Amino acid sequence: MALNLPRQHLRRMKKIRNRKGYDLNISGAPSDALATLSVPATVAALPERIPFIKPRLRVKTGDPVQVGSILYEDKTDPRIVFASPGGGVVGDIVFGPRRVIREIVIALDQEETAVTFPALTETDLDGISRDDLVARLLEGGVWPLLRELPFRKIASPDSRPPSIIVPLDAREPFRPSPERYLTEETHPLFVFGLNVLKRLSDKLIVFTDPRRKGICRTFKNELTHTIEGRYPADDPGVLLYHLRRGPEDNRAWFIDGQDLLLLAGFLRRGTLPTERLFVVGGSGVAERQHVRSRLGAPLKHLVLAEPACPEPRYVVGGVLRGYRGNPEGHAGLYETAVNVLPEATERDFLNLFRPGFNKPTRSRTFVSAIKNVPMAMDTNVNGGRRACIACGYCSDVCPVDILPQMTLKSILAEEVEEYLAHGLLDCVECGLCSYVCPSKIELVETFRQTKFEYHKEQVS
Ligand code: SF4
Ligand code: SF4
Repeated sequence: MALNLPRQHLRRMKKIRNRKGYDLNISGAPSDALATLSVPATVAALPERIPFIKPRLRVKTGDPVQVGSILYEDKTDPRIVFASPGGGVVGDIVFGPRRVIREIVIALDQEETAVTFPALTETDLDGISRDDLVARLLEGGVWPLLRELPFRKIASPDSRPPSIIVPLDAREPFRPSPERYLTEETHPLFVFGLNVLKRLSDKLIVFTDPRRKGICRTFKNELTHTIEGRYPADDPGVLLYHLRRGPEDNRAWFIDGQDLLLLAGFLRRGTLPTERLFVVGGSGVAERQHVRSRLGAPLKHLVLAEPACPEPRYVVGGVLRGYRGNPEGHAGLYETAVNVLPEATERDFLNLFRPGFNKPTRSRTFVSAIKNVPMAMDTNVNGGRRACIACGYCSDVCPVDILPQMTLKSILAEEVEEYLAHGLLDCVECGLCSYVCPSKIELVETFRQTKFEYHKEQVS
C-alpha cells in the first residue's frame, strides 16, 4: 500500500534537537513483556476526562448498547459524539459534584455485537470527499481522537489545520512503547491512517526519537522528522515549537500513533476496534509490563497482581501528566498507562535536613543526585508551598522556553497581554516546572486552568 504523499514528504527526514526538558530517574519501569488479558466484566466511557466539552447523555441505565453505539454527545457541538467501547447493557452512570458525568459503565455481554458502517478501501478513500470523510469519522464516534493545539481540545470539524502531527514516541515515564503496537503487521493499517489524515490536511508531520531504531527502520518512508532530547521531546507541541516561523504559528492537529491505528481500523473494517494496549508501572506494583486489553478497561483489571504497598495510589496517564484514578474506576479514551505509586502516609520529619539517599531530585537537594540509579517515587511532595525563591529551575527545564515564574506573576496580576507574550499558549502542560519547583508552586495547574479560561472567553 503506497502513501500518497506530496513532494514535501519525500524530502529527507529532518532532525531536531530539543535542548531543555528533563528525564526522571525513577524506578518501577514496566518491562517489554506483553500480557493479553481476558475480557473484563465491564468497560466504561469517562466524559469527565474529555476537556472543553459539555457532555449530554444519549443513554440511560438499563439501555442495551452495541460496540460503537453513541453514549453521549458534546452539547456545544452535537456532531461530536462518543462511541461505546463495548456491547452489553448500560450499568451505573456515575455523577460527580455539580452532576458532572464521571463514568458511563457498560456491563459486557458474552457475545457482543457492534454497530456497522460501510468499510472503506484504499480506492474508496481516493473517491470520497473530505466532507464525507469528516462526516463518517464524526458519525462513528472516532473524531474525538483528533485533537488540536494549542488548547489540546477535540479538533474542530469545520476547520482545515495547517498540519497534522503524529508522534511515534513515549518519553514520559511510563507510557506504552510504540514498538509494541507499531510493527510490520500494523504498518499497512498505519499507512492507511496517514492517507486518511492526508485528506484532512495538506501537511503531515510524523516523528520519533532517532534511538527507536525499529520504528525508524519500519516507518522510514512515513517519518518526516526525528527529535532528540529529554522528556517531553515526544510532545507534538514541542515539535511545533521547533518548526514554527512565529508565535502566531501555533495551530496544528495531532493524533497519537495508537489512536491513528484505531481510527484507521474503524474506517477499514466499519466497526469500532475495541483493543487497547496499556502499560502498568510504578514502584507500588510488582508486575510491571505491557498489557493488551479493552478500551475503557477497569483499572483493577489492568493491574494484574495485588499492589506491593499497603496504600497504593493509581495514577492514570503518565507519572507527570496523569491524574489520581479511583481504583474501582476505568481508563478513559486517551489513557494508556496506569502507574501505581505508594501513598506517602507520613511526612518525613525535618525532611530538608536529611541526606535523602533514596529520593528522586533534580535540584541536587538530596545526596541521591550523585547516585546514578533509578529511585523509587512515592506521592510525597517533600514539603509545603512557599513563596517563589527565584531559583530559575522551572525555566531551566521548560521545553518551550517559557519563564514560568514570570508567567505566573502576570496570571496572578490578570495581565492577559503579558502572560500571552510570555508564551502561555505554547505551554505543553508537561508538568516539569511544578515537579522541579522547590517552593511546590502548582505552576502547571495554574497554566492549564488559565488556558482553559482564556479559551472560554475567546469562544464566548
Ligand atoms: S510552563 Fe508548561 S511547558 Fe513549560 S515546563 Fe511548565 S508545564 Fe512544561
Ligand atoms: S522553580 Fe519555583 S521557586 Fe524556582 S523560580 Fe520557578 S516558581 Fe520560583
